[in-house]
Amino acid sequence: MNKKYIFVTGGVTSSLGKGIISASLGLLLKAVGYKVTIQKFDPYLNIDPGTMSPYEHGECYVTEDGAETDLDLGHYERFLGISTSQDNNVTTGRIYNNVISKERKGEFLGKTVQVIPHITDEIKNSFYKIGKNNSFEIVITEIGGCIGDIESLPFFEAVRQAKFDLNRNDFLNIHLTLIPYLSTSGELKTKPTQHSVKKLLEAGIQPDILVCRSEHKLSKEIKNKLALFCNVSKNSVIESIDAKSIYDVPVLMRDERLHEIVLNYLNIKKKKPLRLSRWKNFLRNLHSSNNILNIAIIGKYVSLHDAYKSISESLIHAGANLNSRVEIKWILSENLNEKNIKKSLKNIDGVIVAPGFGERGVEGKICAIKYVRENSIPFFGICLGMQCACIEFSRNVLGHKKGNSTEFDKNTPYPIIDLMEEQKEIKNKGGTMRLGSYKCSLEKGSHINKIYKNIDIKERHRHRYEFNNSYKKEFNDNGMLTTGTNNKLNLVEVIELKNHPWFIGTQFHPEYRSRVLKPHPLFISFVKKIKSIKNG
Ligand code: GLN
Repeated sequence: MNKKYIFVTGGVTSSLGKGIISASLGLLLKAVGYKVTIQKFDPYLNIDPGTMSPYEHGECYVTEDGAETDLDLGHYERFLGISTSQDNNVTTGRIYNNVISKERKGEFLGKTVQVIPHITDEIKNSFYKIGKNNSFEIVITEIGGCIGDIESLPFFEAVRQAKFDLNRNDFLNIHLTLIPYLSTSGELKTKPTQHSVKKLLEAGIQPDILVCRSEHKLSKEIKNKLALFCNVSKNSVIESIDAKSIYDVPVLMRDERLHEIVLNYLNIKKKKPLRLSRWKNFLRNLHSSNNILNIAIIGKYVSLHDAYKSISESLIHAGANLNSRVEIKWILSENLNEKNIKKSLKNIDGVIVAPGFGERGVEGKICAIKYVRENSIPFFGICLGMQCACIEFSRNVLGHKKGNSTEFDKNTPYPIIDLMEEQKEIKNKGGTMRLGSYKCSLEKGSHINKIYKNIDIKERHRHRYEFNNSYKKEFNDNGMLTTGTNNKLNLVEVIELKNHPWFIGTQFHPEYRSRVLKPHPLFISFVKKIKSIKNG
């Protein structure tokens, strides 16, 4: 079978959920027996989202091989249970960077370097690069942004050209669009979609399938009208009605027979019957449980929930798995202090202190950790959250009143958290942290060892600072145990508190490895403990 390429484009407005539609289609195609991967092309000029504020871009998702990527890659991994890589997220910045460095090497042999063909060739090479990997049969490519955006033009041109590179049955375009509802007249309107498809046609792309986001069901008349005006066959107009949760979308797409229409276009057959029983089981648990657990996520970007997407999704996976519903309480760390902490954490069953960078809000996080440590409230610190737990312990248990991380106080007399040796010479900010998957050995018999049921684990990282080993003995002697270590680099990766129901901090980010059908053991254990304390 030839490699099949499906391009997912968007129109009318951004944020319609191209990532979720791509992930849902990927899941359905995988469920009928195909090996699928998904990649995302982003039109912005940053080389990757690693240097962007979460307020600009939401969470930065980190792959196994250490790429800092768009949060949609998290959806792809969580829905499909696959691992993505450096090659699954490409930006305009990366494309231009590659072309310009080839130009400097003289690789264009005296030619004038231009958007067409040089930039579009580079884009197409990236489209196909992942397809050259023989482990995939179908490559879904999501084009970020909307048709009509100036900055996405070269990507659309490359999609147009791809149609000519590939055989008729190996190329497919799915266009995701919005059908707005006018409440005053009670009507769904097709005009924005018509215009968006006209724009796509101007770029030389005729969509094969329209997926129409809508608050209300699309009548047959509306679907027929869309088909007629947009040159799409009637059965290829798919409705994507607002769902209860992102996890309901694969089932809605299955009901709309999206996968069958796609298989038909690609001229391939199901390799096995579609069964979504485990997924539906998850959905049943997700929606039916009345056992509510209130878990706080304390961070500095909480007004944008997407900034902590993988953490909140990991909690949802674990909650559903344990027949409970996790209600996340978002708490802005800079609002917390000794005076209001008790009130702020009232009715909170467990606390996660989130990853982050920079000083703002750190004292609030430390204050919350003191409270949960002293009041036996389950605590999970991730990356900066773990570092804050170490600072708190040094100040309030070991008595190092000015204990700190050198990230926040360069001259602290007690540098509990310090810059990693190999980071000291690094000047560039982009792509230079300790990134991606590293081995970690867990202390036999420790709490975390019991959770993983393993000694050797691998988890993903994204940080520059580390636990300062000169405090290791003092911490262990006083009840804060360092129970996970990267032996090769001699770095502390896990801390846990003795005599506390659940108090663990990890330098790594377990949230990047939680999957819908395979929740992460740390999140399961954390939620399980909270549930057992709450239900007595
Ligand atoms: N700012 C801290 C560091 O660089 C923590 C990073 C994080 O939480 N991802 O080490």
